[in-house]
Amino acid sequence: MTTPVDILALDRSDLKEWVAQSESAFRADQLWRWLWKHGERDLEQMTNIPASLRKRVASEGEIRALSLADQQTATDGTIKFLFALHSGRHVETVLIPDFDDDGSPSRMTVCVSSQVGCAMGCSFCATGLMGFQQNLTSGEIAEQVQWADRTSKETYGANVTNVVFMGMGEPLLNMEGVLGAVEKLTVEDGFGLGARRITVSTVGLATRIRELADLETRFGLAVSLHAPFNDKRSSIMPVNRKAKTDLDSLMASIEYYTRKTGRRITYEYCMFSGFNDSVEDARELAKLARKAPSKVNLIMYNPVEGLGFHRSEEDTLNRFISELVKANVTVTVRRSRGQDIDAACGQLAINQ
Ligand code: SF4
Repeated sequence: MTTPVDILALDRSDLKEWVAQSESAFRADQLWRWLWKHGERDLEQMTNIPASLRKRVASEGEIRALSLADQQTATDGTIKFLFALHSGRHVETVLIPDFDDDGSPSRMTVCVSSQVGCAMGCSFCATGLMGFQQNLTSGEIAEQVQWADRTSKETYGANVTNVVFMGMGEPLLNMEGVLGAVEKLTVEDGFGLGARRITVSTVGLATRIRELADLETRFGLAVSLHAPFNDKRSSIMPVNRKAKTDLDSLMASIEYYTRKTGRRITYEYCMFSGFNDSVEDARELAKLARKAPSKVNLIMYNPVEGLGFHRSEEDTLNRFISELVKANVTVTVRRSRGQDIDAACGQLAINQ
């Protein structure tokens, strides 16, 4: 028996090729629009698709849609989804609403997962504790956004405006899934989001960052720095222990990326009390940040039980910020969202 084709995982050119085996190529465009513009999963509803193609999709292919296993809403309006994949494993997705002073929705951000678990083993992260389990397909990633968008419209009357790849997994270890999802999310007759509204966040894999620069991708790139010294960074992020991904290689790849793309990079820096929040850390971070066009996003850590890290105090944070500002570094602070439902950064983990 042949393995069914995973229709949602196909990129546009593969879908065209597959459809063209039995139908005119424009039928692929129609099918694509149903799937990625309208979010339709029921073949019967795809009224302009001939019965012969619908039959073929059902017999030779499979629409492996996500199914919702759980949904929780935090007191600040953040919504966390638990999705079951075709494999039976689960991933989490978070919808983070921002509101204007008058209460109207201003920005709707979806944080998507690209892998089940993660191989990178950062010592402050609940996902890292799970180890790597599987990559998500481009369809499984893009569908998280479609699902969150429907919920956002129903709940807040507003569309999703931004997508961040900051959920479970290291996106650059799933390039096929991530780049395929970006295609589905950004093409005009797909989900139709501007590429600049998408940010991919990586632990800092130097070779992959160079690859992205060469591919001239248009989405934003964020790099998790979390410590400005090699020894400190290695102690919490195993990726830094290898010469080809330590701080020196990483910084060289970032300089290459920013030169080649003309875009600035965002450094994510999670503040851990007594570990990486001293004036000396701030000064070293400023030196790194000035090597290439960038901004620094300081994250207030959401403690994960048993991992032994704590959030920095407010006055330590303020001192840290003023050192960066003194050095002309652009800095923003990300406060926790959805903490009461464990939806905040670094808190995503599931018992599979
Ligand atoms: S912080 Fe990111 S890269 Fe590190 S273990 Fe967690 S999910 Fe993986």
